[in-house]
Amino acid sequence: MSDAPTSRLEGLHKMTPAERLQAVARQTNLGNEAVSDLVSAAEGRIELADRLVENAISVMSIPVGIATNMIVDGRDVLVPMATEESSVIAAVCNAAKRCRGTGGFVTSSSGPVMAAQVQLLGGGDPNNVRLKVYERINEIRAICDEVDPLLVKVGGGFRDVDVRVVDTAEGPMTIVHIIVDTRDAMGANAVNSMAEALAPKLSEWTGARSLLRILTNLADRRVVRARAVWPLEEIGGQEVRDNMLSAYHFADADPYRAATHNKGIMNGVSAVVLATGNDTRAIEAGAHAFASRDGRYRSMSRWERDPAGNLVGSLEMPMAVGLVGGATKVHPTARANLAVLGVSSADELARIIVSIGLAQNFAAMRALATTGIQKGHMALHAQNVALVVGAVGDEVDKVASELKALGKVRQDLAEEILARIRADNS
Ligand code: NAD
Repeated sequence: MSDAPTSRLEGLHKMTPAERLQAVARQTNLGNEAVSDLVSAAEGRIELADRLVENAISVMSIPVGIATNMIVDGRDVLVPMATEESSVIAAVCNAAKRCRGTGGFVTSSSGPVMAAQVQLLGGGDPNNVRLKVYERINEIRAICDEVDPLLVKVGGGFRDVDVRVVDTAEGPMTIVHIIVDTRDAMGANAVNSMAEALAPKLSEWTGARSLLRILTNLADRRVVRARAVWPLEEIGGQEVRDNMLSAYHFADADPYRAATHNKGIMNGVSAVVLATGNDTRAIEAGAHAFASRDGRYRSMSRWERDPAGNLVGSLEMPMAVGLVGGATKVHPTARANLAVLGVSSADELARIIVSIGLAQNFAAMRALATTGIQKGHMALHAQNVALVVGAVGDEVDKVASELKALGKVRQDLAEEILARIRADNS
């Protein structure tokens, strides 16, 4: 019999997390240290993990830091951000401080409206199928609202229907969008359940076959906009402002640059989405699809100068986050982070998240248009490298500060410095 590990771990899902970990450790020859790291990382949280996902063996923690200086719609707010990346939180603090004098971030939103798609195939002329669906709007409303009476009770529920004919490689298809106000929920389960309940009826009414029934993450009816003004003196003068505008024009014109420009925005956005137990993948998919809505992938943000010469930034993006549903209500860290934010609606949370994205973008563009991104990264990056080479306790700061003084944050140099410190101390 071979000792090679097998991925066929029959019955893993029926075991307790501790039994699973033992089974995985046996298969992978995991050392005791790794096993006890996985055990201690999950201390007090493994039961919840086991309820949230399948085959849970541990929990992975991500640092939560606080973004300071944020004013959103006239309210000072401390924003928890969950991220493993250094400099992300400091960047937001800095950008938000620089626009406090002009009132911080002003937002608007289209409201918490989501859509689910039902794919209809066949049934004759797709435009005819489309009209047959529109004729049933009252029945559609009744079916959808019956699925989620609680949502209706809190003021949400079915709002409208939109039917599109989409040309595909196998011919035209009729795509029904059911449009639902999901209030304080992200709404995926809510609209998916409605789409599933509705699909057989759509087939019956139109003679078409229904296939996929699922929400769209391109939540372009749930768009939030944030805007802020950075005065010239806070930017570093006209030259920096103009360089930042050139940086923006580059990103808006070139997808290679836009991908990284938008990744910077998502550094802020995803960190708050994660900190509040929301679905990062849903937000990211929606954001990037929305950034491509003109048929070309572009900058998510817009930058311009106002008549007084100040730099004005705005960010418009879909923001399907919730305060109920998913992990938001059940994850104790998410609940605590929501309490720090002090938000009373999903819409308020969405506005803060988009403001954070804009702050992040300002900081990244300013760094790129001036000293470059590495300088700001240096301090925390030097500590990370010190940790990577095995520095512990006081050694971490010592190694990091020597690396910074050298202006070269390199692993080989960190190893040399650590060896020297240890030799000096022995
Ligand atoms: P959910 O179904 O857990 O909770 C929403 C429900 O809570 C509503 O339908 C309503 O019945 C009830 N509710 C109580 N008070 C409410 C209020 N004030 N406002 C609104 N609803 C209220 O969660 P959900 O938001 O429908 O779905 C979110 C989850 O779905 C996330 O975990 C996400 O990861 C997951 N998901 C995402 C996708 C995707 O993005 N493609 C697909 C499937 C599932």
